[in-house]
Amino acid sequence: MRLIMLGAPGAGKGTQAQILAEYLKVPHISTGDLLRVEIQNSTPVGLQAMEYIRAGELVPDSIMIQVLEERLRDPDCSEGFILDGFPRTLSQARYLGTTLRRMKREIDSVVNIDVDQQLILGRLAIRQRTDDDPKTVKHRLDVYHRETAPLIDFYLREGLLRHIDGDAPEDDVTARILRSLD
Ligand code: ADP
Repeated sequence: MRLIMLGAPGAGKGTQAQILAEYLKVPHISTGDLLRVEIQNSTPVGLQAMEYIRAGELVPDSIMIQVLEERLRDPDCSEGFILDGFPRTLSQARYLGTTLRRMKREIDSVVNIDVDQQLILGRLAIRQRTDDDPKTVKHRLDVYHRETAPLIDFYLREGLLRHIDGDAPEDDVTARILRSLD
């Protein structure tokens, strides 16, 4: 099973990705988590990514592609994966399509978790990450609408999109996603 999770910051895609990964027994690949590890280890990628993340900007595609490609090469990805936080731009989506085709693999489904913006602002306000201060959050949401939201249409046209109403308790959202994948 190869799944992509889409949704605004705070929509709950990370939480759901983690639950689904355990359930479907495939790795959960969060590019945000991968970048935070790089930063913790002060790697060249981490040092480059740090400023962008702090500012609520997207890390440049060239860096992201490098990070993702390395992770996809790990043997645990051979049976599938749940991508959380990638792709985030149309060019990342095109890159992913090309890469998977080259590996004779394809995306099975794209799950878009839809949550009202006011609810999102409330959720992010109680999170403790350094890029969750109100100004940066606002900027990340703007970036999401400009760069990432167009992916909904992109995957709709590819016939892969599943729309999920994310305004419900965690377990209910998981159940909705699993039903949509049947
Ligand atoms: P959230 O889903 O709450 O925005 P993430 O943990 O997915 O948080 O990402 C945190 C930050 O990492 C993003 O704001 C961005 O700066 C960077 N990032 C993660 N994935 C990508 C990506 N695919 N392309 C560009 N930047 C990314």
